[in-house]
Amino acid sequence: MIQADHVVHFRYRLSDAEGGLLEHSDQPMAYLHGHRNIIPGLEAAMAGRTAGEQFSVTVPPEQGYGLRQDGSRQRVPLKHLVGVRGRPKAGSVVWVQTDQGQRQVTVVKAGQFMVEVDTNHPLAGQTLRFEIEIVSVREATAEELAHGHVHGEGGHEHG
Ligand code: ZN
Repeated sequence: MIQADHVVHFRYRLSDAEGGLLEHSDQPMAYLHGHRNIIPGLEAAMAGRTAGEQFSVTVPPEQGYGLRQDGSRQRVPLKHLVGVRGRPKAGSVVWVQTDQGQRQVTVVKAGQFMVEVDTNHPLAGQTLRFEIEIVSVREATAEELAHGHVHGEGGHEHG
């Protein structure tokens, strides 16, 4: 049964409030329950479920990626974008290297050397509908608990 310090493999389909498909998993995803690996609204809905269970849950922005914040536009040097070659297109979602690590942002406008980005998460402000299938549940290893994430299939890979 899904509870704290357990590893969960699951498949998902993610839709917006209008039913438009946003994402789906080809391979099962893994997360460590009780360690904030996934958004709070989804983690809460997972608790107590067992392998083989299927369910759907609607997650409001407050329990998902948060509300959209105004004043979240910033100019960052093009070279701080991770894995981007050339000038990114407006509206594309990219990763930026910051002092606090990498974060996902949306490109507003790109110049020769600087890019204006919106630091809201692309899914901020959205009500999300997940269809979930629990594939497996197991206890986490000591190493996974120490790292705070899942190792192996569907999980974190260390280079
Ligand atoms: Zn690790």
